[in-house]
Amino acid sequence: MGRDTGPKCKQCRREGEKLFLKGERCYTQSCPLNRRANPPGERPKKHRPRRSQYLLHLREKQKARRIYGLSEHQFRNYVEQAKRKKGVTGEALLTLLERRLDNAVYRAGFASSRAQARQMIVHGHFQLNDRAVSIPSIMVKEGDTISVKENRRDKVKGIIEANKDREIPSWLERNFEAMKAQVMAPPNTEETGYKIAANLIVEFYSR
Ligand code: SF4
Repeated sequence: MGRDTGPKCKQCRREGEKLFLKGERCYTQSCPLNRRANPPGERPKKHRPRRSQYLLHLREKQKARRIYGLSEHQFRNYVEQAKRKKGVTGEALLTLLERRLDNAVYRAGFASSRAQARQMIVHGHFQLNDRAVSIPSIMVKEGDTISVKENRRDKVKGIIEANKDREIPSWLERNFEAMKAQVMAPPNTEETGYKIAANLIVEFYSR
């Protein structure tokens, strides 16, 4: 299963919560989830039907996969990597997902969504530790510096300006004027901005 490229708001409605996939619109009143949260193709129900354990696990996995914009294959690879790490697998999984460069660019407020961050990286707007980078899946680590290339500053200025008031996680430190962010610590999984039950995801892949 590839990356879900269907309508973004439909993906949020399917998961029944805001996944912040569309950028600036997600932070405004025009987010359709403010009006209707029923899954696409279903009428609003007074009571949500009871979900099987399998469905709970599946939905949690799909939610996380959609948030980070990954294909099933990529997502499964992260789960396998997390299983090989010491400690709680769910925590390790969230840490891996947060360490992706596209996520770090988005979390630092240099893009309006992870999809936009990915596109900006692929288009060569960023540097990692002062070296050009174009691979969104690169893992950032403590001490790394992400910056906008000198000759791309004018191109991305508007996007960065639009995101300057968004709260950034404590593991990143941003210098807005210099268009730079530094990774100060490993990602804090309490600060993903979503409620992700990572243990359910791990159980999904352990069946
Ligand atoms: Fe659409 Fe963003 Fe709202 Fe999700 S959070 S429904 S992507 S506007």
